[in-house]
Formats: sequence, structure tokens, C-alpha cells
Amino acid sequence: MAGTWIEIDLDSLISNYHEVVKHLHPESRCMAVVKADAYGLGAVQVALALERVGCEAFAVTKVEEGLVLRKHGIRGLILVLGPSTEEEWPKAIEAQLQLTISELSFIAKLNDVCSDLHKEVSVHLKLETGMGRTGFRLSELEDLSKSLNSAPQLKIMGVYTHFARAAQRDKQYTIEQYKQFRSLTVRLEELGIRPAWKHVCNSAAFLDYPEWHLDFVRIGTLLIGHYPGPGFTGKLALSDPWIAKSKIVHLRKVAKGTKVGYQSIYRTKSVTQLAVIPVGYADGLGIAPHFVPQGWFDFLKIIIKNFLALFGVFLSQERVELKGRTVRVAGKIGMQLTVLDVGMQDCALGDEVRIPLRRTVANPRIHRKYKQDGGILAERILEEGVSPVCKEYSQLD
Ligand SMILES: *Cc1c(COP(=O)(O)O)cnc(C)c1O
Repeated sequence: MAGTWIEIDLDSLISNYHEVVKHLHPESRCMAVVKADAYGLGAVQVALALERVGCEAFAVTKVEEGLVLRKHGIRGLILVLGPSTEEEWPKAIEAQLQLTISELSFIAKLNDVCSDLHKEVSVHLKLETGMGRTGFRLSELEDLSKSLNSAPQLKIMGVYTHFARAAQRDKQYTIEQYKQFRSLTVRLEELGIRPAWKHVCNSAAFLDYPEWHLDFVRIGTLLIGHYPGPGFTGKLALSDPWIAKSKIVHLRKVAKGTKVGYQSIYRTKSVTQLAVIPVGYADGLGIAPHFVPQGWFDFLKIIIKNFLALFGVFLSQERVELKGRTVRVAGKIGMQLTVLDVGMQDCALGDEVRIPLRRTVANPRIHRKYKQDGGILAERILEEGVSPVCKEYSQLD
């Protein structure tokens, strides 16, 4: 049994899905965003569980992610949100993935690949309205419609855009993006392009703008039990499907003043016990996306934090939970080992510790256990010496 693992409660995931559906406009449908291995939960198990309860559409960023879902039996609509490459198209077309078109020069080429295969491909047009990433702008729409008119193998199923600041307090930017989307789609219609579906909402916009649910909402964050930002807490009854755990694999009683870890930045303040757990930053522990200050107050907080660290006070030190009690990480988190200062509380080798592992950065090699109806439904394990990504799922009973 691995010393570090993640338990994923599929019942919680499903209940989050039902919560989303409950708040969905009756004419809209939920497209479950399972990109990046379903934000770390495991794309295959998440999609299988959601498909079983009626979810009809899924979204991923890359073709390879979509192929993995098909290979494991997902039958619903699978939309690839990111740009795809020519080499990927034949497989994507065979697997009936729906592709996003955001690059003019790809249209004729994609059409040729389809003709060679005697197949059609369903596509969604991505419109750029303020994310500044991928998509067509107003000035390109005329050329877009011309290219599409000479690409009969492309079935234009959808048109969409993505919000850059829907989770922020200031709503004006998002409203501008939506207006922009509306005028771009009107222009497309004038040019004779009338996709069946329109979709714009991510989790934050889904909660804030029920009138924008349109034909699909694209939901990731809420399904995995998170709110898109502090202002959204409690808007749905979400439950958290994710628990990361590790076991104590080394335990010693030490004297006051014992130095711990790289650079000896931590010293014990009294006689205490140091426990080691087999998990570190290579597994994602202590890793977070770069924080960009949003104004002077945030900036000040960063300065103060760094200033205190100079004197050995670490405000943001990770905390874990041992037998219901909060315990501090002692010193720097190592690559694959982390030390805990557990005090003199009663504990032993093999005791379980709950660790704060961020789901999107949790190493995919970590053993995942899927629970449903009180039992373990499936496990995802790393086979010896083999790359873990989308390795087989050993179905237990
Ligand atoms: C990730 C993503 C989503 C889902 O966003 P959440 O806020 O996690 O619900 C929707 N649309 C696109 C294009 C995305 O990349």
C-alpha cells in the first residue's frame, strides 16, 4: 500500500453535478469540464461517473485528453477547447471529438483531412472577447465565413467565448465580454453562419448570470467541489470529493532546539516528536499558482510575509491534520519527504495524516482510490516504472 494516496468520493462529485443541474436554465445543458485530468481527480473516473447519472457532454483542452475518454468508453459529446494540431486530426475525427476552430488557416486543411477520411467533423468556433488568448475577432469574421463556406466537411455545431474575470468582484468586464460575444454572433449570422449552440458560462458566470446559460454551461470548478472565488461561497450546496492522505513513516522524539530540514530554517521550541511523511513538492505539496497582487493591500501582505520569514516566522506554513488535530510542517517541504512537528501527542508509525494537496497540481502518479456508496469502486495506480498518465484503471469488483 502506497504511503501517500488520494481518496475521491464519487458520491460528492455526483451530488455537486445534481446541484449544478438544479440551478441550470431548463433549456441549457451542463458540459462537464474534465481538462487536466479533471482538475486532478482523474478524468476517466469523473467522466464515467457523470455519464452514468446523465451528463451528456464533456470538455477537455487537448485532443489526447479526449482520446483517453473515448478509449475508456465515454460516449457523450467531447469538445476539445484548445487549439489542435494537424497531426492530431485523423485520430480526433475517428474518435468523433468536436474540435474548436480559432485559426483561419486550419479550416481548409482540416476539411482536406476529413475528405481523405470520408468523414465529417463537428466544430465549435471560438470568439475572442477579452481573454486575449485564442479566438476570432470582428475583423476576421468575413474571412472566417468564406473559409467555412468552402469547407463542407466541417459541421458548425457551436460558437463560444471564455470569460477572463468572471470570478472577480468587478462585473463590468464580464458584461462587456458578453455584449461583445452577442455582437460577434449577430455578425456571424449576417454572414450566414448559424451554429446550433452558443455557450459562454464557466462556473462563476453560471452562478452570476442565469440569463446567459444559453445552450450549454461549461462547468469544472463547481463539480470538483470548489467555489470560483470567495464571493461565491455557499451559493450552491457543494461537497468536497477530495481527501489526500499520507502515513507517518518515521517518528523520533527530539530535544528543544533541534534543526529541521534544508537550510535549517526550523528549530523545535521544546522537546517534541518529529514525524516524516512520504510526500513533498514533487507530489504537489506546498505548490500553488503564482499569486499576483490585486491592489495595494495584497501587495502589503506579500511584503509582510516575506519580511517575517527573514526572522523565521512563516505565516503561510502548510498545516496537516493528524487525528483531528492541526499539526505544522516543520521547515522546508522536501522533494518527496516532509517533516511534521507533532508535539507530544500520542501517535505512531503508520498513523494517517490528511494533507493539503492542491488538486490541479497533485502528481498524477499518486495512487487514487475512488469511493462510491460507501465502498471502493476503483483505483488508479502507477504500474511499476511506467508513466502514470492514464494508465489502466484496475476495476475492483
Ligand atoms: C476551464 C474552462 C472552463 C471551466 O471553468 P471553471 O471555472 O473551472 O468552471 C470553461 N470553459 C473553458 C474554455 C475553460 O478553459
